[in-house]
Amino acid sequence: MITSDATVQPQTAAEAYDIYQNSDSAVFIAGGQRLKYSKKHYKVAIELSHAGLKQITDMGDEIAVGAMVTLARMQVSSLIKELAGGAIANCISVVAHKDIRTNATIGAIMAVKDPFSVLLPVLLSLRVDVVLEGKGRMNLQDYLGCPPMGEMVTQIIIAKEQIYTAFTAYQTLPTDEPYLTGAVAMLPDSWRIVVGGRPGCAAIAENASTELTEKGMAAKENVAHIASEELDFGDFGTCSEQERRELTVEMVRKLIKNAWKGYTRLSQER
Ligand SMILES: Cc1cc2nc3c(=O)[nH]c(=O)nc-3n(C[C@H](O)[C@H](O)[C@H](O)COP(=O)(O)OP(=O)(O)OC[C@H]3O[C@@H](n4cnc5c(N)ncnc54)[C@H](O)[C@@H]3O)c2cc1C
Repeated sequence: MITSDATVQPQTAAEAYDIYQNSDSAVFIAGGQRLKYSKKHYKVAIELSHAGLKQITDMGDEIAVGAMVTLARMQVSSLIKELAGGAIANCISVVAHKDIRTNATIGAIMAVKDPFSVLLPVLLSLRVDVVLEGKGRMNLQDYLGCPPMGEMVTQIIIAKEQIYTAFTAYQTLPTDEPYLTGAVAMLPDSWRIVVGGRPGCAAIAENASTELTEKGMAAKENVAHIASEELDFGDFGTCSEQERRELTVEMVRKLIKNAWKGYTRLSQER
């Protein structure tokens, strides 16, 4: 675990950010699941557990999830379960480590931008903003594309849309980190295709999404190939760049079908 000269427990997000900005060596402590593997020393460790960031709030057209909400709380939240055919809650079940599900927080998952996250592709398939203390809202796609900014995440805001997301994560063993992840979302008039674990962070396959939106299900084979060609892939771990590209074709094809089936079922239930 990290060590520090001092530990503080600010009572608000603004106070936490102020301390962070005014120290030349500070770290936020959220669920501690990543930091427990770090041996770094800091002047100040800022514990966020009392900073008022643990609410899940229904705001009408949107749901706000505080940065200190854990994966486990998101998994059982009735508000979150209603989104995207339950995709957010369901993808958290793929996280095999109980400690991670119980303690890891959504704010840290955003800040870390883990390339192998199972959650980020699903969130990127939805309309999500990240709220940064003192800076305001930023679209998730733009946020993930930025280099580490040293900012403090206070919440994420998820739009309530008529949408169904199908997702998958390819793993050798359930406890292994996935070597490819994907999410495909169907909306009334558009599609979004996301691929993660490339090994780059989750990214939208823009050309493939546009092609599917314009041409529909009949184009799905071509769309799956476009997705595998337009994104960057690389050799990492047990999976080569070529294997990732080939698997992406299979994955996107399957996810398009599943999203279409899920969306149709949801529409009939409404
Ligand atoms: C064994 C293992 C398995 C994992 N499996 C998965 C998985 O399957 N899917 C998945 O999505 N992720 C997975 N992860 C990644 C995990 O979700 C992240 O490491 C996450 O950051 C842990 O959350 P935490 O709250 O415990 O973060 P902490 O360890 O407390 O903090 C991690 C980093 O984020 C910073 N931080 C924390 N909160 C904020 C904030 N509000 N604003 C800005 N910076 C902040 C901290 O300063 C620190 O640098 C795994 C990690 C491990 C170690």
